[in-house]
Amino acid sequence: MPRLTMPELPEVEVLVRHLRPLLHRRRVRAVRVHRARVIAPTSVAQLQRTLRGARFTDLQRRGKYLLFHFTSSDAKPRRCFTVLGHLGMTGRMYLQTNRDSLPKHAAVVLDFGRQRFVYEDPRYFGRFTLDVTASARLGPEPNSSEFSSAYLLRALARSRQAIKIKLLDQSVVAGVGYIYASEALFRAGISPRTPARRLCAVQIRRLRHAVRTVLQEAIRFGSTLPLHHGPAGKADGLFYYGRASGATDYHEERLRVYDRAGEPCWHCQTPIRRFVQAARSTFYCPQCQPVHPLRQSPIPAGNKLGRARSVATRRLKAGR
Ligand SMILES: [Zn+2]
Repeated sequence: MPRLTMPELPEVEVLVRHLRPLLHRRRVRAVRVHRARVIAPTSVAQLQRTLRGARFTDLQRRGKYLLFHFTSSDAKPRRCFTVLGHLGMTGRMYLQTNRDSLPKHAAVVLDFGRQRFVYEDPRYFGRFTLDVTASARLGPEPNSSEFSSAYLLRALARSRQAIKIKLLDQSVVAGVGYIYASEALFRAGISPRTPARRLCAVQIRRLRHAVRTVLQEAIRFGSTLPLHHGPAGKADGLFYYGRASGATDYHEERLRVYDRAGEPCWHCQTPIRRFVQAARSTFYCPQCQPVHPLRQSPIPAGNKLGRARSVATRRLKAGR
């Protein structure tokens, strides 16, 4: 198991890019639902009736959701419809041949003939449903023009909640979860505890930039990895930004604060701290992300510059 938690925007984006060509123009011959819970409120009969004979046309991502688009073959004129997918905590979606044995936790299976699409989910926290209303409640995509500094300023202006918690609110920005919220706040030099409405315009601009950068980097990193597929126990067509413990593939460690409590900060060597916010771990550097920032610049890209600036900050703090 990867040590990391729920897949976030980059992991889902990489999966979508990988699956889209594999699903191209496939026709669904049969639908098997092994866990009715993941398709609710759609019924088994309804999903089977709608999908049987339908042809896959496109796959898109919205936040952490996968939107599978189909056209039905029998109805005239042809009807287009969408299935909303979500990986939950541990869900995986991949293709296998019909000679492979189905995984123990297969939740929904679409038969295409020689191949089949498997949605597997040991915890059944994910979704595969005709009810797409959840995607309509999402805030802007981080990489859209809608996600501007002016928008973010407005979205945070009245909130007393800590900024880390606000970043997890999918109606503020879609697709950010625990990992990338911690990473973006580190890069922006903002304490996760800062009340959202206290952020000044400069911090908002930095934060917007950091959110975009960390997600784009993760997508770029993930899309260069070879993705293998197969039943449980094998690599799963998902990637995780950072090294997965016990993974056969070695990835360079890219997470700077997430899950690194006690390790020296990449930037200033101060041990990374962990605390619990909304029942989940938050990781941060107390030196680089002070509650009352003295430093006026975000964490720079280069190590050397970073150290020089951090020494300057320590001097400033010590009154030297
Ligand atoms: Zn630091």
